[in-house]
Amino acid sequence: MQLYTKILIGLIGGAVVGAVANIGGITWLQNLLGNVEILGTAFINLITMIVIPLVVASLLVGTASLGDLRKLGRIGGKTLAYYMVTTAVAVTIGLGLANVIQPGAGVSEETRIELTERYGGDAESRMDIAENAPGWKDTLLRVIPRNPVRAAADMDLLPLIFFTICFGAALTVIVPERKNAVLTFFHGVNDTSMVLINWIMELAPYAVFVLIGSVVANFGFDLLQSLLTYTIVVAAGLGLHALGTYGLIVRFLAGLNPLKFYPKIAAAPLLAFSTSSSNATLPLTIETAEKKVGVSKQVASFVLPLGATINMDGTALYQAVAVLFIAQIYGIDLGLAEQMIIVLTATLASVGAAGVPSAGIITLIIVLNSVGMGEHVQAGIALILGVDRILDMIRTSVNVTGDLTCSAVIARSEGESLTLSTATALSD
Ligand code: ASP
Repeated sequence: MQLYTKILIGLIGGAVVGAVANIGGITWLQNLLGNVEILGTAFINLITMIVIPLVVASLLVGTASLGDLRKLGRIGGKTLAYYMVTTAVAVTIGLGLANVIQPGAGVSEETRIELTERYGGDAESRMDIAENAPGWKDTLLRVIPRNPVRAAADMDLLPLIFFTICFGAALTVIVPERKNAVLTFFHGVNDTSMVLINWIMELAPYAVFVLIGSVVANFGFDLLQSLLTYTIVVAAGLGLHALGTYGLIVRFLAGLNPLKFYPKIAAAPLLAFSTSSSNATLPLTIETAEKKVGVSKQVASFVLPLGATINMDGTALYQAVAVLFIAQIYGIDLGLAEQMIIVLTATLASVGAAGVPSAGIITLIIVLNSVGMGEHVQAGIALILGVDRILDMIRTSVNVTGDLTCSAVIARSEGESLTLSTATALSD
């Protein structure tokens, strides 16, 4: 059985049991699912622990084997351009849908007050996190780490990527004998990490069951009702981008059949859906690109960690809809100029968002401020917080799909011949 089928079974099973507990009001089952969520968190820790060894080892081996540093510059340039353009397209889709459907128009005054009261405190703590976040200059400066070990310890991927590339580039010019010793070591680390991922993935269906079960069992379905149009608009936009935009890209830029491509990569977006974290999914994303799509290590090890950190189409699309939704509720008319600003700031805010759960709602504050909605930030965040977890799940799977699509496009543009593997196991 394919990995994605097993994960899907866990996901559907968890959703059904959670829904029965929630809708049927079976409190003991709700509590049980809430308590065993810790097993899901243990699984997330397990996969996250592979991120640093895998990213460092695969990127180092990938960079050192490039031979030509100009190639790295070329891949880097193309990847950044691709990420920015697709994110801007995602924001535009979000804005288009929110303008046409007007999800904020039907929300009653009563719902607004209820949601603001219920989530006001929570929204305030998110604002505190945002206030303590570093500014643009510091963020840019932090790409160059003073201490790469600390970057690794903090799971700060961007500085770690920077250091590893520099190190890999320098490695190519030392005497072959020593270079090979270092490379052999990191080859071993890379292969061992891959074996570990395969072991950990055996647990994925059970972990997904628990994670989804506890989310669904404790989800406020009453909230979904009052925020239904908003939730549908975000989900529809994400679906359109994931299937429409990426479908066209896969067909015309990667030269692959989207109907075959999606099932091959499905395990990664499904895991992203269950964990709400691009970072936690990264080991599986890298292995999927290499083993299932045939992307080279050189491309996958660079494009995917970078993507998990800066490429978040789903997050940007969601932010665009959220800003318009909040503006519509407060009767604020955002014209073309403001919406152009949203395209820019939502693209940048998604770059700044970390690949961890709920990061997008914090950087949303930047987008709200950029169009003069500063006074509505706290209340606005409170309005949408109730359904954020479920939207986070969907947008994270789009983020990961975007990264995988990019890896295929860049690999093809570098003359690699992609082959969708027929193997069922990741390790085959
Ligand atoms: N959870 C998302 C991710 O990891 C980020 C976000 O939109 O909150 O990709």
